[in-house]
Amino acid sequence: MKELNNTDREYLLSTIRDIPDFPKPGINFKDITTLLKDKKAFGFLMNHLEERYKSYNLDFIAGIDSRGFIFGAPLADRLGIGFVPIRKHGKLPYTTIGEKYALEYGFDEIEVHIDAFKCEKAKAKVLMIDDLIATGGTAFAAANLINQAGAECVEACFLINLIFLQGDVKIKERTTVYSVLEID
Ligand code: AMP
Repeated sequence: MKELNNTDREYLLSTIRDIPDFPKPGINFKDITTLLKDKKAFGFLMNHLEERYKSYNLDFIAGIDSRGFIFGAPLADRLGIGFVPIRKHGKLPYTTIGEKYALEYGFDEIEVHIDAFKCEKAKAKVLMIDDLIATGGTAFAAANLINQAGAECVEACFLINLIFLQGDVKIKERTTVYSVLEID
């Protein structure tokens, strides 16, 4: 089961709630807490991700602050590999490398520990994961960070891709993209 069929996609989609105008007017926020609290849906999603990635021979899962942690950490545990948090600026305690990215107004920055992907291999194979890709700015910065930290981002995985924003176009310059659900 590498990708879900339409019935399974519809099922997962039905467990995600839309919150119009959150956190500001014009944004239709995809609320995944309704999926997470549904043990059948959460288990179904995690089984799917485990099935897809168990043959990828990954060394680490890198989850993006903060909802990427919710899926990334249990997936790493299921695959028997390590989990690396990519965090917002100022949250990580050891030496970090950072990457700035543009927001609608201004900039934001994400960071990773400089030694996060050190392992017995010369270049660790990393899966990046987040709950949602919108404009793609966060994910593109995260892919750059993984490369700067000396690892290879073998795929970027999202539960939801807001495809009308075409955020995945830029990140495809860096890595392959898998979205469990695509929303027009
Ligand atoms: P972007 O950098 O524009 O791709 O934004 C991606 C990040 O913002 C992800 O970490 C998402 O969790 C969050 N995000 C952006 N838009 C939404 C949305 N409509 N619903 C839920 N989360 C969103």
